[in-house]
Amino acid sequence: MACTTQDDRPIVFFDIDNTLYSASSMISHEMGKKIHAYFVSIGLSHEEASELHLKYYTQYGLALRGLVRHHNVDPLDFDAKCDQALPLEEMISYSPQVQKLFEDIDRSKVRVWALTNAYRLHAERVLRILKIDNLVDGLIFCDYLMKDFSCKPEPEFYRMALRAANVGSPANCYFIDDNRKNVDAARAEGWGHCVHFCEKGIEHMEGGKLKAIDDAREPGASDNDVVDVTTLDELRTVWPEVFKAS
Ligand SMILES: [Mg+2]
Repeated sequence: MACTTQDDRPIVFFDIDNTLYSASSMISHEMGKKIHAYFVSIGLSHEEASELHLKYYTQYGLALRGLVRHHNVDPLDFDAKCDQALPLEEMISYSPQVQKLFEDIDRSKVRVWALTNAYRLHAERVLRILKIDNLVDGLIFCDYLMKDFSCKPEPEFYRMALRAANVGSPANCYFIDDNRKNVDAARAEGWGHCVHFCEKGIEHMEGGKLKAIDDAREPGASDNDVVDVTTLDELRTVWPEVFKAS
């Protein structure tokens, strides 16, 4: 979906998982179980599986990166048995509110893309369930067809996104993600308008260990010009220039 013509409109990048739908859908939790089972299926004990799952997630931002690097796992096999095996249609429901938010973005002013650490198939499936697939102009995903694909929060992933979307200046990028590390990485690349989506009450849920890794920051770290929101609708206030005048 890379575009080849120059388009000077700023671009709004939305993370997908746990941003466009609530983390209360427990998809991360179910995904964690499938990933654990995958580690076990390649011959690791339950203990090693837990340890390495956490280690790779912390180190690479994505367990699969470690599986590919250190265990020669085929990303597409992993995708089939983990992401694709989730009954997403039963776990996520279409939200008229999210759809309306996307409809209310002024396309004469900005472009709207999704930026995900999942593979294309999972991303497209979620966008279809949410009925916003026709409201997203393009998709940046982890390309599992490439052996050494990059992912958030690696700088290369953000640079690849700018190339793929033909963005002239990172200052023209808007970005929202539920993972604070991913947001800070975008800021480090000079992305102009960054928002951290922190849904209320989610940190207390199961799977909170990974969430704590996502959001861990140095004590006393500055806000890094990142705005926190607890609902997507708050974007209307944070980025008023992106939406149609009401
Ligand atoms: Mg996310």
